[in-house]
Amino acid sequence: MFANGLPYLAIPGPSVMPDRVLRAMQRPSPNIYTGALHDLTHSLIPDLKSVAGTTGNAAIYIANGHGTWEAALANVVAEGDRVLVLATGVFCKGWGEMAQGLGVEVEVLDFGECAAVDPDRVEAALRADTKGRIRAVLMVLVDTSTGVLNDVRAVRSAMDAVGHHALLMVDAIASLGCDRYRMDASGADVTIAASQKGLMTPPGMGFVWFNAKADAQRGTLARVSRYWDWRPRVDPDAYWKYFDGTAPTHHLFALREALDMIKEEGLEAVWARHDGLARAIWAACEVWGQGGPLRLNVPDPAARSRAITSVVMEPGQADALRDWVEQKAGVTLGIGLGRDPASAYFRIGHMGHVNAHMVLGVLATIEAALAALDIPHGPGGVVAASSCLAELAGA
Ligand SMILES: *Cc1c(COP(=O)(O)O)cnc(C)c1O
Repeated sequence: MFANGLPYLAIPGPSVMPDRVLRAMQRPSPNIYTGALHDLTHSLIPDLKSVAGTTGNAAIYIANGHGTWEAALANVVAEGDRVLVLATGVFCKGWGEMAQGLGVEVEVLDFGECAAVDPDRVEAALRADTKGRIRAVLMVLVDTSTGVLNDVRAVRSAMDAVGHHALLMVDAIASLGCDRYRMDASGADVTIAASQKGLMTPPGMGFVWFNAKADAQRGTLARVSRYWDWRPRVDPDAYWKYFDGTAPTHHLFALREALDMIKEEGLEAVWARHDGLARAIWAACEVWGQGGPLRLNVPDPAARSRAITSVVMEPGQADALRDWVEQKAGVTLGIGLGRDPASAYFRIGHMGHVNAHMVLGVLATIEAALAALDIPHGPGGVVAASSCLAELAGA
């Protein structure tokens, strides 16, 4: 009834594509062998490193996030090796399944779906690895199915406490450019991301950042899949080889524009914006929860992402709410991916090109749905969210 107008895809990726990014793609195919595209590709590398907070290497792949899972693994483990997966939802488990597909033995430490990785359990698992068989620890910065934010630095400290040699590998796909993350300062050896979430670029490009320690482990492998091998992709004299074929021409222009937008705003300001918007969402959910079943999936604010929020209700209610906001108001929320029952969960994506009026619009629409569907809830969620933003923004 009120859905016509600008739709808002508030799912956790693909995120809202800025008009600037879309416009940057609207051009004829460029020459891929020489000229502007060559220079543009080179210009992306320092900015990609800076957004991930590393002085290490940045490799670009034509791949989605799943591709970067495999790219990262293919360079550091071989059949028969072992990895430790720190699961806080379906995404890190998925990375582990990718490793299994490569013939790698996978040990999973499961921390449930509502709390962050417990570094003490990681330390114990590494201590038990007396033969030093674990070659990599895989974790997500944010698990997109649960909204759990993990403390990478704390896992690094647990590894250091044991003196374990494994690489620390971080999937930052959900929240690079949203949740505060500095790869080097966190002690990660490998970080992966994809284009379509905080990086505000259409899906199809993936990134792997790696340091010298990870590259040394790459050097010990008897062979590496030619397509995933990161070495040719960071060779500055062979830019066309970055792609093992045709460059992702229009995606490169899009990414250039998106990285310019992040630079113009400043990464600190980008993080602060995501932080404030997330706090507004939490404030609304907490008020609604005072009078009904709705609650945030992650009770501890320190373990909540600033890019995606998972909300739980009674079975069936979340599906009804998602249908209502989409059909009546043009807002699409994320499904209860990987949850049981899925119909009790919805997720709000608030990553990338998102601001206060968009988040307030989503929250007011959810509040309208709660009323229309007769779902009990505390009154004044939107007021709480707008007060939260008013206080953070100041005069
Ligand atoms: C989105 C996402 C993925 C998967 O990325 P695709 O591009 O869909 O393959 C993996 N891990 C995390 C944490 C994600 O948010």
